[in-house]
Amino acid sequence: MAGMDDCIFCKIAAGVIPAKKIFEDDEMLAFHDIDPQAPVHFLVIPKRHIKNIMECEKEDGALLGKLMLKAQEIARKLGCDETGARFVINCKSDGGQTVDHLHIHTLGGRKLEWPPG
Ligand code: 5GP
Ligand code: ZN
Repeated sequence: MAGMDDCIFCKIAAGVIPAKKIFEDDEMLAFHDIDPQAPVHFLVIPKRHIKNIMECEKEDGALLGKLMLKAQEIARKLGCDETGARFVINCKSDGGQTVDHLHIHTLGGRKLEWPPG
């Protein structure tokens, strides 16, 4: 099971693996997805290794709010203000999570289908 030592997003947060960073502070990082599924596709992650949204507790509420609002702010800056975007958290196998470090996807710049496959 992936832990901090072999977690690709922990390595990106630590600067060990490069990424196209959009924003960074002491508790979070935003960067462009390496395999974009839309003209705008970036991820916002906490620097702390939280596996997924199911692991979050009440104390994580403020952090989750900050991650969400940062995704919104960046989406605006990248031109999605008028046309909108999709803000997504995949979780575990049914949710299609492939990297076990909490991340919010933001996809925009094209019309997305609903429901997802
Ligand atoms: P998940 O499927 O877990 O919700 O999303 C993981 C996302 O991380 C995928 O969209 C994938 O393209 C992206 N990703 C995986 N490895 C890397 C990487 O090394 N760098 C970047 N920038 N994105 C990655
Ligand atoms: Zn991690």
